[in-house]
Amino acid sequence: MESHLQRHPLIAPADRGRSRTAARARDRHADARAAAALGLYVHVPFCARRCAYCDFSTGALSAAAVERYLSALELEAERRAGAVEGRVFTSVFFGGGTPSALSSRAFRRVWRALRSRFRIANDAEITLEANPESVGPALLDAWSEAGVNRLSMGAQSFHSDELRLLGRIHGSERPAEAVALARRHGFERLSLDLMFAFPGNTWDRLGASLEAALAIEPEHLSVYCYIPETGTPLGDAVISGSATLPSTEDQADAYALATERLARAGYECYETSNFARPGGEARHNLVYWLRREYLALGPSAHGLVNGTRYGNHYALGRWAEAIERGESPESEREEETEASAPREIMMLGLRLARGVRFHDYSARDRARLRRRYDAAFARAIATRRLESTPGGVRVPESLRFVADDVIAWIDALADRLTVDSPAQRFILSNPCPSLPSPVA
Ligand code: SF4
Repeated sequence: MESHLQRHPLIAPADRGRSRTAARARDRHADARAAAALGLYVHVPFCARRCAYCDFSTGALSAAAVERYLSALELEAERRAGAVEGRVFTSVFFGGGTPSALSSRAFRRVWRALRSRFRIANDAEITLEANPESVGPALLDAWSEAGVNRLSMGAQSFHSDELRLLGRIHGSERPAEAVALARRHGFERLSLDLMFAFPGNTWDRLGASLEAALAIEPEHLSVYCYIPETGTPLGDAVISGSATLPSTEDQADAYALATERLARAGYECYETSNFARPGGEARHNLVYWLRREYLALGPSAHGLVNGTRYGNHYALGRWAEAIERGESPESEREEETEASAPREIMMLGLRLARGVRFHDYSARDRARLRRRYDAAFARAIATRRLESTPGGVRVPESLRFVADDVIAWIDALADRLTVDSPAQRFILSNPCPSLPSPVA
């Protein structure tokens, strides 16, 4: 199978003129891909206040709610331990909600529950999402003791008026202070989230926020395009017309300019919305994009284990109630099929800047991928929607902002559906390819 794949017409000869620097960066990226084997996601459903754009599963913090959450989480960890028996997690991700809303005592209890039921690699990447406002010495000590080695902070903007519009609880100076404090506590891997293309956000304003973020020197930056969500104050304002988004062209220009500015600062775009210094890719993100398996715990958490995708009940009360009764906390469960596995590999992998690389997948999945997409990939290359790479295919940089449209076109072609042929007809039909940040 290997030699056959290497002769595949979609695989271009290696670029012999590449520079050593680029080769080293590629090696480090290959290392990051190889290290992303099995993830553990823990959803923490509390926030000090709900942001104006957010529809994630999160609610008010109270002692009773936290106690109920902790007890149910321990039970869910117990319940799911058998599904991953003997396997070792290479990454752990505390997301939310705001994991930093938990006290150091509560966080230690969560960590004990995980350590006692799961095997976590000594060199695992352990990420915690933190609101810059809640980062303080006691929590940093608790996270550090537990082995948390990567912090991801939601800055979103460095303009006070934009932070107010978004309903953020922190001021524009706080991310820099929180990052400095984290560094003093020994944290080296730090990521910041920024959002763009929300009402009133121009390229100049995004550019100023980018400069402020770069001045802090995180090793990783996520830059998300805002998507209005029904039922959120900001989303409803956009949908009703009382607030206006930047035009599609302005959104695409802002993305292109941000990508260019970050590249000049040494941050490579490794996924549509994620940028990192060499070696700074989030291992846990790669688990998702490479469609590797991950166990997920907590309300609204979604996992992929032993070929089955599952999603837990969205609300804390409904999720906890099911677990307390000894019932499954899931609201959805789906076994993979011959069609769904390659579709997911294609859809997720083409969001990566280096695209789908066939050797990242098992022989079985490679065969499924080729069966379903060989002809569609060839046609996409011929029409410049994809380009071949040494070992796979990727979306050209010029189309990265509309990668989801390219992906939809390829999938429709694979299904033998009728699609428009001129590239211009489908491009920009869906201007925001990224989900808004779940980051606290
Ligand atoms: S964006 Fe983050 S901090 Fe804001 S409400 Fe949503 S989960 Fe909480």
